[in-house]
Amino acid sequence: MQTSFTLAQLADPDVAEADKILRACVHCGFCTATCPTYVLLGDELDSPRGRIYLIKDMLENDRPATAEIVPHIDRCLSCLACMTTCPSGVHYMHLVDHARAHVEDTFRRPPIDRALRALIARVLPDPDLFRWLVRAAFLAKPFAPLFDLVGATRIAAMLRLAPGKLPPRGARAPRVFPPEGERRGRVALLTGCVASVMTPQINAAAIRVLTRHGIEVVLAEGETCCGSLVHHMGRHAAALAAARANIDAWMREIEGAGLDAILVTASGCGTTVKDYGYMLRTDRDDAERARRVAELARDVSEYINGISNLKTVYRPRLVVAYHGACSLQHGQKITREPKEVLSKSGFVVKDVPDGHLCCGSAGTYNMLQPQLATSLRDRKVANIARVAPDVIAAGNVGCITQIAAGTAIPVVHPIELIDWATGGPMPGALRRPNGRSD
Ligand code: SF4
Ligand code: SF4
Repeated sequence: MQTSFTLAQLADPDVAEADKILRACVHCGFCTATCPTYVLLGDELDSPRGRIYLIKDMLENDRPATAEIVPHIDRCLSCLACMTTCPSGVHYMHLVDHARAHVEDTFRRPPIDRALRALIARVLPDPDLFRWLVRAAFLAKPFAPLFDLVGATRIAAMLRLAPGKLPPRGARAPRVFPPEGERRGRVALLTGCVASVMTPQINAAAIRVLTRHGIEVVLAEGETCCGSLVHHMGRHAAALAAARANIDAWMREIEGAGLDAILVTASGCGTTVKDYGYMLRTDRDDAERARRVAELARDVSEYINGISNLKTVYRPRLVVAYHGACSLQHGQKITREPKEVLSKSGFVVKDVPDGHLCCGSAGTYNMLQPQLATSLRDRKVANIARVAPDVIAAGNVGCITQIAAGTAIPVVHPIELIDWATGGPMPGALRRPNGRSD
């Protein structure tokens, strides 16, 4: 694709990167077939190619974002299925991240939209505040249909996502979990924000599996939300502040007792941590430190699959429908490892038909775009039902919450199943009568 940025525009490194990305696009349109919003809406402007044109026009002409453009960018899930499909290697993720920051800087949203986004950006990354919100949402959950009736569909969607009961508090930083037996490695584990409140059992399972296999686990002092929630809302400065705090926390460990890896159990967060090197590439002080941290980042399934002597003590021959979270399969290109390690642990793993399509969770998408998110969830749940599983496994808290809201089949993280097979407790979702992971 030809571009016509001026030299002055190209002096901005973000615009120079956008130019590079735009030039790689040959407008073949292959990406449209795998784009969930194009599949649902059939509108070229809600396809990757259409959005690329809109972003190009906005950036090249130094135009503020408008009410015509913003809904198309907002409807993008950042699922990155288009990146998997694209034969030209167009880095859509960096382009849309830049476009979202441009929207945030130049577009004034309606007051309710602004208030809702400000609430999400302030509360979700803070586990203490988020816990209060979840408690309030739990009490208000029965009133979700009333909010629907008065047109407050996004509030109704948030209430429906609230768990049926508040999970107990999980382990929080700073803390070190010593290995059982001889120490074979040392890793940091990201505690996370939403995940630490909604699904603390996931990190607890990861810690048990790791320490059982001789890996010391540290929850580093000073770690915080990875920044991805605000990053995908275009709040660039807040995302960089979160990244810097985590880099400081993990660098202290790297330069102290050392780290073999930085593990993440929520793949949405993992994709962002792996991108820290890019996000801070022009930062004089932090570029190199960000690169080092990003290089050490691993999804927990990648790391566990590398453990040669997985100590399986129980082989529950359950059929597991493996849902590949978009951030894992498209964002990090991890498709094989979670399934391999589940198979090694004795589970019968089945792929979900149309598995490349998003479940509609996509960070805060299911709160901000509830209709589209629900259509995608219903489609996903119907496809999962076709493989008749005993349990669904997904490597991201957002997908787990989203899918569990639409099915009675238990939904768990793969690490909970691996923990069970290697001597840990049966996952809570499998013990509940309706299987809900809340
Ligand atoms: S598949 Fe790639 S090159 Fe083709 S239109 Fe989509 S982004 Fe552009
Ligand atoms: S990230 Fe997903 S929703 Fe957005 S354009 Fe690409 S395929 Fe479509």
